[in-house]
Amino acid sequence: MVTRKSVEEIAIMRRAGRVVAEMHSASAAILRPGINTGDLDRVCREVIERRGARSNFLGYHGFPAVACISVNEEVVHGIPGRRVLHEGDIVSIDCGAIIEGWHADAAITLPVGEVDGDSLRLIDVTKAALEASITRCIPGRTVGDLGAASMAVVKAAGFDFLREYTGHGIGRALHEDPDVPNYGKRGRGMRLKVGHVLAIEPMVTAGEADVVTLEDDWTVVTTDGSRSAHFEHTIAVTDNGPEILTLP
Ligand code: MG
Ligand code: MG
Repeated sequence: MVTRKSVEEIAIMRRAGRVVAEMHSASAAILRPGINTGDLDRVCREVIERRGARSNFLGYHGFPAVACISVNEEVVHGIPGRRVLHEGDIVSIDCGAIIEGWHADAAITLPVGEVDGDSLRLIDVTKAALEASITRCIPGRTVGDLGAASMAVVKAAGFDFLREYTGHGIGRALHEDPDVPNYGKRGRGMRLKVGHVLAIEPMVTAGEADVVTLEDDWTVVTTDGSRSAHFEHTIAVTDNGPEILTLP
């Protein structure tokens, strides 16, 4: 069942979204070669506590941290810990927050120090794919329009993207209907209405998009070891167009 959120409910989700944006900026502020992925989780946790929010990641099906931290060939769902970040790595930080029962969810991919041009292009294309979907979050468009737009950007760049994992509705729960795939056909799928709130999240790979889950039952990596990037925002469909709720 797809629910529509009121202006008041979206206002609370915006507060949760700002907490998520702050988790990302706090992560970026400490990011440098030599820190480990657990350090990033720690600063995210500090933001959650400072803002009086709750984590929707911690304990989700047993997930042990407030952020998924995925490095290089890790696509999504990396468990933060002792993995040390090196110059030239790229790292994705996917996290969320709950305020007064309302959820927000967003992800960014950042370079660690100096990064090769191909990795920077992978990051830029993934961000552009997300932006292409966001601009279409207007009443009357469809979920298929969002996926088609994202897919076109990724394909034009010569990259590939995950089919197994999708974006999602979000609100009272972290994952609500509908699924929001990063592919689709224009005009197909659910028609967007004012009050729909979606988490859109392209996961793009530099090589093949074949992935496997590691023995920790969480970390999703590319089978060929190629790098991947992941960007996500929580977006409300409003009378005034798309509103990104997960901005500072
Ligand atoms: Mg999500
Ligand atoms: Mg997320």
